[in-house]
Amino acid sequence: MRSRSLVLMYHQITEAGADPSGLAVSPKNFASQLSVLKERCEVVPLREIQLRSESRSKRPRVAITFDDGYADNGEVGAPILEAAGLPASFFITGIALDGQGEFWWDSLEHLILDLNDGSAPQDPFEVVIGGQRLRADLRTVEARMRAHKALNRRLRVRPPEEIAPVIEALSLHLGTKIQTCERHRLAGMDGIQSLARIPGMTIGSHTLSHPLMPSLHSEAKRHELIESRRLLTDATGESVVEFAFPYGNDGAFDDDSEAAIREAGYLLACRTVFGLVSRRTNPFQIPRAMVHDIGVQDFEGRLDNWFRGRA
Ligand SMILES: [Zn+2]
Repeated sequence: MRSRSLVLMYHQITEAGADPSGLAVSPKNFASQLSVLKERCEVVPLREIQLRSESRSKRPRVAITFDDGYADNGEVGAPILEAAGLPASFFITGIALDGQGEFWWDSLEHLILDLNDGSAPQDPFEVVIGGQRLRADLRTVEARMRAHKALNRRLRVRPPEEIAPVIEALSLHLGTKIQTCERHRLAGMDGIQSLARIPGMTIGSHTLSHPLMPSLHSEAKRHELIESRRLLTDATGESVVEFAFPYGNDGAFDDDSEAAIREAGYLLACRTVFGLVSRRTNPFQIPRAMVHDIGVQDFEGRLDNWFRGRA
């Protein structure tokens, strides 16, 4: 039988502002995307995405997921889902549960993209990442966009303990403090607990520190998986059995991570690579489709493409 199931991936539901990574969907677009889904699909909890449909419905199945643990997930996204009567899974990092500061990629965005030609230093930012020298010119808007992209791409494949010193060094080079803002606010313990209490919302793990899993030693992988599961289970009083891999390419996944996820007691794991889901899909390698800030017509077009198996 032809597979027609799809898992959608969101990050933030908020009025975007500058959003160079395309992680935010506006509340208005999110609500209209949900109406499209309700009309055209059978929206099920993620854990049911591979079950045989109970209903006679010929409509394709969809599950909704969120990564990272931003505060807006529970404050804005979940109420819109609840009003529409739709379930979703939220993959929370230990960083978001802690609720202090911002993710490194948001700090990087502030440090570089909040600069203007007047405040940007004339000297380039020079740094060694993973043994490779990077020299980032910050003098013009175009140069800053390139620098932001290059640093983001190089840093995301490094372990967390190598990323933080680079962000610190950049902050020092610029002579500016690392900013925090409302848009990037993390959910924190209270936020996660309120989110978990909303009917239909399921909490899953997205690791403690959001590392690229294959960049970690076996022991560190297991710590990320076991400890995040324990913290979230304690926080919500529900057994946490869903996991999502940080970052979105083939380098974000390896067999040792899959084995560690099974051992840690999870029942499924999502990736960020695109694909449809069938009953034969490995439940520890569930592919997803990332949703952007688009209105009804564009979203319908994307859905058509996705169900034809096109990214
Ligand atoms: Zn911010």
